[in-house]
Amino acid sequence: MVSRIIPVEPFDLVIFGGTGDLARRKILPGLFRRFCAGQMPDRAQIIGAARGELDDARYRTLIAEAIIEFAKPSAEDHAQIEGFLKHLAFVSIDAKGTRGWEALESLLRDDVVRAFYFSVAPALFGGLAEQLHSYGLVDNNSRVVVEKPFGRDLASAKALNAALAVHFNEDQVYRIDHYLGKETVQNLMAVRFGNMLFEPLWNSQYVDHIQITVAETVGVGGRGGYYDTSGAMRDMVQNHLMQLLCLIAMEPPAKFDPDAVRDEKLKVIRALDPVAPQDLVRGQYRANETQSGFLEDVGNPTSKTESFIALKAHISNWRWAGTPFYLRSGKCLRARSSEIAIVFKDTPHSIFPDAGGTHRNVLSIQLQPNEGMTLDVTIKEPGPGGMRLVDVPLDMSFAEALGAESADVPDAYERLIMDVIRGNQTLFMRGDEVEAAWAWTDPLISGWETRGDRPAPYDIGSSGPDDAMMLLHRDSRRWREVR
Ligand code: NAP
Repeated sequence: MVSRIIPVEPFDLVIFGGTGDLARRKILPGLFRRFCAGQMPDRAQIIGAARGELDDARYRTLIAEAIIEFAKPSAEDHAQIEGFLKHLAFVSIDAKGTRGWEALESLLRDDVVRAFYFSVAPALFGGLAEQLHSYGLVDNNSRVVVEKPFGRDLASAKALNAALAVHFNEDQVYRIDHYLGKETVQNLMAVRFGNMLFEPLWNSQYVDHIQITVAETVGVGGRGGYYDTSGAMRDMVQNHLMQLLCLIAMEPPAKFDPDAVRDEKLKVIRALDPVAPQDLVRGQYRANETQSGFLEDVGNPTSKTESFIALKAHISNWRWAGTPFYLRSGKCLRARSSEIAIVFKDTPHSIFPDAGGTHRNVLSIQLQPNEGMTLDVTIKEPGPGGMRLVDVPLDMSFAEALGAESADVPDAYERLIMDVIRGNQTLFMRGDEVEAAWAWTDPLISGWETRGDRPAPYDIGSSGPDDAMMLLHRDSRRWREVR
């Protein structure tokens, strides 16, 4: 398969927080991979910015190490590191003070796309926007990229949107949700809107229910302090899981254009019903002989923050009335697995009463660890012995279907950063979308806070608390196995 990679236009990309974890693990390795793929123009300049006292040479060494550790380059790509580093510069700058801003100004060019990536704590976002403006560094062709978390409730998200809106138009603001940059997530749109096959069945008449699972095997790790103020609802559901839900549930946009797509997603969020307390389960992983539990990991023995959440959501519109969406996400679970499963209804009448068991078509979209799709189709079990039915997956793994080259899909960050340079906001969240998502989650959070609910303990390596199983059992359904 011949890939068609066209270099993006020349750009200056300033990464505030250019020495931080995200920059070293994701942003710069991602840019390096785009360089190797031939997408980086000769006149690309990447400026790392942080308070540390580095010069260009030391910054390049730091980033070369990060590339080797996190991009894991092949021998061929390894030889390209030197060439990539030539695009890098560093400015020692204080987001809150005056140091470094004139040095930054002197590096920026007027005839290229200008993008500012805020890979710093959200508390610095408003101040950075203010500084950029006061030093005259923002023009109509400038973009700003904002990392999650985008607020911790509706009020703080509104305040953040308002702070950015003082100096940037909405079409200049790129709010990252890296789930939207995943190949399979975009494939979800291709499958839905590029085929005749699925869309006629994509509604409550044919779909029994939908499951969205984002399961991790790791605990909160070194992020305990942050996580205790956040929890699975704020950290995963309000952004990643809701974005996935929107892409599954939205109406076909008239065109694949940023506002057309985001208008449809927004309508989904606004059509979500409030979640009843009995339709929501929260959990905390507990210590075992070898591993510490959530309370130890966050260093707060009385914490009521959840490391696991499962809920049943309903969308009140013509397409989805009566079809529940079950969402769950948690840490220290059995396997690392992110999956969307569209579970279709039983056939209205079985002409094979002796075929054994119930058989259902399931379209499963895997996001990690491997990206791909499977469609379970019911067929006759081969051989003699009558009409026995069996569900067989039609496997649509990219590698097998499209050749080895296609298995090397760009990381979400790579794609999203290139979209920023191209000026394409389709895969970024709009301000009103983020606010609507908080407007839905806020009452759920304040509900359990008011009731004083405690998350239920669950075993490390399990599928979460028993109550989460009951959430589906009550509806005569069951979760798909986390594997
Ligand atoms: P981090 O490792 O703590 O890095 C923070 C960066 O900001 C450092 O480069 C730091 O360098 C710089 N910085 C701090 N204060 C500054 C100031 N006053 N002026 C200029 N630079 C300053 O944080 P991170 O993990 O990279 O996260 C960055 C952002 O991405 C956060 O909003 C986080 O929520 C978000 N995020 C991170 C991840 C991840 O996997 N790490 C995932 C999703 C979202 P100096 O101390 O030298 O200034």
